[in-house]
Amino acid sequence: MLVYECDGFVIEKNCPDVVVFPRTAQQVAAIVQLGNEYDVPVLPRGAGTSLAGGCLPVGGGIMVVLTRMKRIVEINLRDRYAVVEPGVVNIWLTKALAGAGFHYAPDPSSQGACTIGGNLATNSGGPHTLKYGVTVNHVLGLEAVLADGSIVEIGGPAEDSPGLDLTGVMVGSEGTLAIATKIWVRITRDPQGYRTLLGIFESVDDATNAISAIIGAGIVPAALEMMDQGILVALEEAFQFGFPLDAQAILLIEVDGLEAGLDAQRDQIIELCQRSGAREVRQARDAAERQKLWKCRKQAFGAVGRLSPSYCTQDGVVPRTKLPHMLRRIYQIGEKHDIKVVNVFHAGDGNLHPILLFDERDAAQVKRVLKASEEILDECIACGGSVTGEHGIGVEKIEFMSKLFAPEDLEVMERLRLAFNPAGRLSPHKMLPTAGACGMEQHHPGRRAAV
Ligand SMILES: Cc1cc2nc3c(=O)[nH]c(=O)nc-3n(C[C@H](O)[C@H](O)[C@H](O)COP(=O)(O)OP(=O)(O)OC[C@H]3O[C@@H](n4cnc5c(N)ncnc54)[C@H](O)[C@@H]3O)c2cc1C
Repeated sequence: MLVYECDGFVIEKNCPDVVVFPRTAQQVAAIVQLGNEYDVPVLPRGAGTSLAGGCLPVGGGIMVVLTRMKRIVEINLRDRYAVVEPGVVNIWLTKALAGAGFHYAPDPSSQGACTIGGNLATNSGGPHTLKYGVTVNHVLGLEAVLADGSIVEIGGPAEDSPGLDLTGVMVGSEGTLAIATKIWVRITRDPQGYRTLLGIFESVDDATNAISAIIGAGIVPAALEMMDQGILVALEEAFQFGFPLDAQAILLIEVDGLEAGLDAQRDQIIELCQRSGAREVRQARDAAERQKLWKCRKQAFGAVGRLSPSYCTQDGVVPRTKLPHMLRRIYQIGEKHDIKVVNVFHAGDGNLHPILLFDERDAAQVKRVLKASEEILDECIACGGSVTGEHGIGVEKIEFMSKLFAPEDLEVMERLRLAFNPAGRLSPHKMLPTAGACGMEQHHPGRRAAV
C-alpha cells in the first residue's frame, strides 16, 4: 500500500483504504457504484507521476489504478486517430506508430512512464507543446465512467462534435468529473526534417533573453528548452554527453517541418543566439546525437536523484519576457531559504520548472521548501502568469486557486463539478478549494505530518 500513499509530489502522504486494478470500463463502473453504496471516496490513478499530488488519497477511500487497461485498441492512419485505453503509457503509442510516418505529439518528459489517461486528466504538455499544443489539442473524445457509475461517450473519432465541448471540459479536470476508460487521440505526421541546436551561454540572463529574441523574430521552434548549470552537472554525470560544465545555461532548440526552409530558420536562430551573447551554438550532427540530447533532457528529472535525496518540482508560467526576472528571483528565493534550486524547463512557453532540492526526512527543510515554493509561485502571479503551466493543481496548489480566481469564478467551477460529481466522492479535495457536497473540510493531514 505504501506505493500508493503519494505520487511524484512526495511532501504529502496518505494511504488509500483499498487499491483496485480494473481491466474494463464495466469494472470501473462497478467500483464507482460500490463507492456510492458505501459512501467512500474514489480516486483514479495512472502511473502516479503527478508532481502536484493529484493522486494523493487525502481522505483515504478506493484508489482505482488504471494501468491494466493498457490496450491500443485501434490505429487508423487514414483518419489520423488512435483509440487507447487510459493505462497506455504515452511513449507506447509513438512506438506503435514508428515506421508508419506518424507519432503522438504530446510528449511530457515523463512519457516513458506516464499514461495517456493521466495526460488527459492533467492536460499535459511537454517539450514540443510550443509548436504542437497540449493534450487538449490532441484528444478527440473519450469514454468515461461518471460519478453515478454510468458509462458515457463524449466526442469520438470525427473532428468537432456538435454541442457543448464536453471533451474540452474533461481534459484537465484532474479526475474530479469522471474516470476516462477509453480515449480517441489525434495522431500527427512525422516532420520531414529536424534541426536540433544547443546554444551555450555564459549567463542565465543571456539565455533567457535569447528565448524572447527567437520567438519575437516570428520563429516558432518545435521545442525550446533551457537547462541551467546545476542540472547540467547532474546530467553530465549521468549521461556523459559532453555538456560544458562552466556554462551557466544551455538552450536546446529544435525546428522541424519540410526540409525546405529549415536551414534558413537554423541560421537565423544561430544569429539571434549569438546576438544575445551565446558563447557557441552547436548542431546535433546526426539522428543519434539528436536522440541522445533529447534523452538527456527527458531524463533530467531522474538525474536530479544524484543531487539530493528528495526534490520538489514547481510548475509556474510567466510571459516569456519575464523569464530573466523570474530566474533571478528563483535563485534569490532559493538562497534566502537556504534551498538549492536547479532549473530545466519549457522556456519557449514561459513554463518554468524550478526543482527545489531537499531531504524529506528533515522537517525544517520541508518547511523551507514549502515557503520557497509559495514565494516562487506568488512571483509568477505577480508577473502576470499562473501557478501551473502543465502539471495541474492537485492538492499542492489548491490554496493558490483563491489567489488566481475571484470567489464568483470559483463558484462557477464548483457548480460545474457538482453537475458531474454531486456527492463530491470522485477525487475529493483536489483542484478546487471547496470540498464539494461531501461536507469535508479541505485539509492536509499529510503535509502537517511532514512538517
Ligand atoms: C520526471 C517527470 C517529468 C515530467 N514532465 C512533465 C512534462 O514535461 N509535462 C507535463 O505536463 N507533465 C510532466 N510531468 C508530470 C506528469 O508526468 C503528468 O502530469 C502526467 O500526465 C501524469 O500521468 P500519470 O499517468 O502518471 O497520472 P497520475 O499521476 O497517475 O494522475 C494524475 C492525475 O490524473 C488523474 N487520473 C489519472 N488517470 C485518470 C483517468 N483515467 N481518468 C481520470 N483521471 C485520471 C489522477 O487522479 C490525478 O489527479 C512529469 C513528471 C515527472 C515525474
